[in-house]
Amino acid sequence: MAYSENLQDEAATIAFGKLLGEHCAGGARIFIKGDLGAGKTTLCRGILRAFGYEGAVKSPTFTLVEPYELTQQSIYHFDLYRLGNPNELEYIGIDEYFQAQNLCLVEWPERAADTLPPGDVEVLLSVSGKSRYILLHGMTVLGEAVCQKVFGSL
Ligand code: ADP
Ligand code: MG
Repeated sequence: MAYSENLQDEAATIAFGKLLGEHCAGGARIFIKGDLGAGKTTLCRGILRAFGYEGAVKSPTFTLVEPYELTQQSIYHFDLYRLGNPNELEYIGIDEYFQAQNLCLVEWPERAADTLPPGDVEVLLSVSGKSRYILLHGMTVLGEAVCQKVFGSL
């Protein structure tokens, strides 16, 4: 099922990310699609906030992955925008990151569509005037449950 919401400003994207994060404790794979500037990294910042991380969050474009091994949850933030060859993912040991207990946030998952395991939740962010529009799809039983909880608590 698809769930959508308008995000008025940056603070709304962060707040939505925090809410999403709160329902992802225990691990999930969140695939985040949208053009450059759509708010993907901002959403990740909100998700990290849910686990008490208040520091800077930038897109790990050149390193592909930024690890956040927090006390309650290991979170791995990927940005595959510059992924050249999907072999690079095997090289960095993608299977180690994509374990069920980890929370994996992936910007530009479409760049590695055949290499990544399926996402639980697919997020689509788009620019809408001065604000943003967010669409969530639950792709697995876990992902659907996450979406229902997020939208049930709005
Ligand atoms: P991406 O990772 O998709 O390239 P960013 O998260 O870096 O995008 O965000 C790009 C810009 O969009 C930032 O300046 C951010 O503050 C802004 N932004 C994020 N969410 C919103 C929103 N809901 N409304 C307006 N601007 C937003
Ligand atoms: Mg980004």
